[in-house]
Amino acid sequence: AAKGNGKNTWHFYETDLQKTADEDMLIKQGLREAIKRNELYLHYQPLGNPHTLAVVGFEALLRWNSAELGPVSPGRFIPLAEENGTIQTIGEWVIGEACRFARRLADRGKSHLRVAVNVSPRQLVAENFVPLVREAIRTAGIKPGQLEIEITENALIVSMEDSIQKLKALRTLGIRLSLDDFGSGYCSLTYLKNLPVETLKIDKLFIDDIESDADQLRFVNSIVSMAQLQGLSVVAEGVETESQLNKVRQCQCNFIQGYIFCRPLPETDAMLFLSNTGAN
Ligand code: C2E
Ligand code: MG
Ligand code: MG
Ligand code: MG
Repeated sequence: AAKGNGKNTWHFYETDLQKTADEDMLIKQGLREAIKRNELYLHYQPLGNPHTLAVVGFEALLRWNSAELGPVSPGRFIPLAEENGTIQTIGEWVIGEACRFARRLADRGKSHLRVAVNVSPRQLVAENFVPLVREAIRTAGIKPGQLEIEITENALIVSMEDSIQKLKALRTLGIRLSLDDFGSGYCSLTYLKNLPVETLKIDKLFIDDIESDADQLRFVNSIVSMAQLQGLSVVAEGVETESQLNKVRQCQCNFIQGYIFCRPLPETDAMLFLSNTGAN
C-alpha cells in the first residue's frame, strides 16, 4: 500500500487486499494442477555435525514453479494448500519423492543419512496418514530409519491425543520424528515429555541474536540442556554466520542447519556436496 498518501491510503490498501485475495485464489487453483503439470520439486538442505561438519542428513523442502505465477515460496503456498486441502495429495507426493531420494542415497552407500520431510497439521490428522507413510517406505525400499518426519507445535494443538497416537505408531515403525520451529509457538516443556520425538529443532528466531544477546544465548543453552536431559538431540536452524556457529558449538547443539553450512540444493548438487565433504 502507498504509505502516507493522505486520503488515498485507504483506497490503495483496499486495492492491495483485493490483489492478495485474487492471488490467493490463483495459487489455490494452481495447486490443484501442480502435480499433474510437474511443477513441484524438492530441494535438499544438508544438516551437519557442528564440529566435524560431516553431513548427517537432509531436509526436503518443497519448491513450486508455476507456469502462470512463476516461482511461489512454500511460506506463501503451504498455508493455502492447507486451506483448500490440496496439501493431502501434495504432501503424499513429497513423502514419496523424499523416500525415493533416500533410496538413491542408500544406493550410494549412504543409508545412514536421514531424509526429513515437513508434515503439516492437516496431513497428520488424516485417517490414512500412518499407512500412507508405511507404504511410501515399502515402495521405495528404504529402512524406516532413513525417513524423518518434522512436525510443528501447531500440528499438535489441532488434535493432541490423536496426533500423539499417530506419532507413537510411526515411532514403532522405526521412523524418526522431530519437532520443528521449537520456541516459535506455544512451546511447553511439559508436554515435550509426552511426545515421542527424538529431535528438537530450535527455531531460527533464537539463533538470529545468539551472538549479540546474552539472554538469548542463555535461553538456547537451557533449551539444549533440558532437551538433552530428556534424551533428545538438538538442531540449530538457520545458522548463517561464523559467530553464530561458534555459539551453537558452545551450546552443545548436536546438529546445525543453515546457509553457513549449505543452502537447500537440487538433488544433483546435494549429491555433489555430499561427495565433496570428507567424513560422511
Ligand atoms: P522449515 O521446515 O522450518 O524449513 C526451514 C526453512 O528455513 C526453509 O525455508 C529453509 O530454506 C530456510 N533456511 C535454512 N537455513 C537458513 C538460513 O541460514 N537462513 C535463512 N534465512 N533461511 C534458512 P523454505 O524452504 O522457504 O520453507 C519454509 C517453510 O515452508 C518450512 O520451514 C516449512 O514449514 C514449509 N515447508 C517447506 N516444504 C514443505 C513441505 O514439503 N511440506 C510442508 N507441509 N511444509 C513445507
Ligand atoms: Mg522443517
Ligand atoms: Mg524449521
Ligand atoms: Mg520455519
